[in-house]
Amino acid sequence: MANGRLMEAVETLKIQGVRMTPQRHAILNYLLSSIQHPTADEIYKSLSDNFPNMSVATVYNNLRLFREAGLIRELTYGDASSRFDANMNDHYHVICHHCGHITDFDYPVLSQVEKSASEMTGYQVNTHRLEIYGTCPMCQKELHQQKKEHLS
Ligand SMILES: [Zn+2]
Ligand SMILES: [Zn+2]
Repeated sequence: MANGRLMEAVETLKIQGVRMTPQRHAILNYLLSSIQHPTADEIYKSLSDNFPNMSVATVYNNLRLFREAGLIRELTYGDASSRFDANMNDHYHVICHHCGHITDFDYPVLSQVEKSASEMTGYQVNTHRLEIYGTCPMCQKELHQQKKEHLS
């Protein structure tokens, strides 16, 4: 499935006149096969073994290009670095406030909220962002373990 999406993405870029390079292909593949919402830095680190000459700037340039082509979404978090999401279907995120892990989950799009916001404020509403925060299963296990060790 990821392969089909990769071919589609390559085709989309080709139509927009973007030349495919081995590095660009690798970054695109990484994004499409990842469910981790990686940062540019994480992408860079994972690929630098295979592409020792690749710079962080190359990763950033490609991410911008993919975003402009509508292949990925950028999730900004104030001062912290952006995360990138190749899942372009409507979905929401649940975020672990211990480790920062982001997990996708499906929920019917809350278009009613947008409508109400628009009606109440007069804004022309384009989009919305909803994030759920909590403790991921892995951190729950770890915290539980720490508690046990502390008690014994
Ligand atoms: Zn966690
Ligand atoms: Zn996502």
